[in-house]
Amino acid sequence: MELSKFDLSGRVAVVTGAASGIGRATAVGLAGLGAAVGCVDLGGSDLEGVAAEIKRSGGKGLAVAVDVTDRTGLDGAVQRIEGDLGPVSAAVNAAGIANAERGEVMPSTQWQKVIDVDLTGVFFSCQAEASSMFRAGGGSIVNIASMSARIANRGLYQAHYNAAKAGVVQLGRSLAWEWADRGIRVNSVSPGYTKTPMTQRPEQANAMEGYAKETPLARNAVPDDIVGPVAFLLSEAASFVTGIDLLVDGGFTIW
Ligand code: NAP
Repeated sequence: MELSKFDLSGRVAVVTGAASGIGRATAVGLAGLGAAVGCVDLGGSDLEGVAAEIKRSGGKGLAVAVDVTDRTGLDGAVQRIEGDLGPVSAAVNAAGIANAERGEVMPSTQWQKVIDVDLTGVFFSCQAEASSMFRAGGGSIVNIASMSARIANRGLYQAHYNAAKAGVVQLGRSLAWEWADRGIRVNSVSPGYTKTPMTQRPEQANAMEGYAKETPLARNAVPDDIVGPVAFLLSEAASFVTGIDLLVDGGFTIW
């Protein structure tokens, strides 16, 4: 086994949700492994900041503002990344939102917004990225799902989020076989509780310490914990891995 199989040099990656948390750590991490990274998010200084951080470290980073629920906008974003950095052969879809409400009173608008961003946004992103990968002759997509695809989070009223994440896992299996004959692998990574702005929401922030105690590895994840497993799935070292969901939860779901 050659170490170079883990290397991402020469690859062009798209990372959605790149301005914050897991997406940001992934964008910076993939650039450190040699990839040129198209950083996609809603926009603002944090998005420009991640591209600037990549450039300061000697890498290639491009900030592109787009809403992942905008299918046409995503096509334009991927085309811009392809034009500036080259054909896309790696993609990580980490853009997402979370909030809470009890199932019996959750308004349809709240349900729909989370489904739109966390499930349909991932599907639209995969479609736009795959169109470039078809031109590149193949690639690897990693969707960021969640351990909430498999468990109900004790004390968190988020049926919409959990349903969307289960959808992301099944979406990955479905696209994995549909696109296998064109050289595209599709997998998901499912983080456990990770310290990011998303988990600083009032309904969750105070529970993080308790979650850490319930985790066999006895802590919450930090965004960098998620980057290695994602990079592995994008790399040639994972050339026979497709359609899986890789849990990165410190063992939280084993009991
Ligand atoms: P985060 O820090 O809030 O980052 C999410 C990023 O996605 C933000 O920059 C956000 O922009 C962006 N975003 C939101 N809606 C978007 C849209 N419509 N179009 C484009 N970008 C959009 O959250 P995170 O914790 O890193 O989460 C990253 C992914 O990991 C999410 O899919 C999340 O569900 C998943 N995850 C997180 C955890 C955890 O414990 N943190 C656990 C399991 C899975 P704004 O800030 O401007 O809204």
